[in-house]
Amino acid sequence: MKIKCPKCKEDAELAMDFSVVKCGSCDFDMSYGEYVKFVAYNESKYSDILGDYTGSTEGHTSGSLDEWD
Ligand SMILES: [Zn+2]
Repeated sequence: MKIKCPKCKEDAELAMDFSVVKCGSCDFDMSYGEYVKFVAYNESKYSDILGDYTGSTEGHTSGSLDEWD
């Protein structure tokens, strides 16, 4: 079935038996287990970026969390 390639964001193909993920648009080719780790790793990086973004904008806007003080 089609899933999103974590590398190039194009359509990748997940084997019916969940054994392998292959992308035709780039050279992405991993076992499903590696794919899950790859995605989790990238999403944690993405969350860090979002966290930094939230942290850097804090102070510029009146944070709703301040209302708890
Ligand atoms: Zn790809």
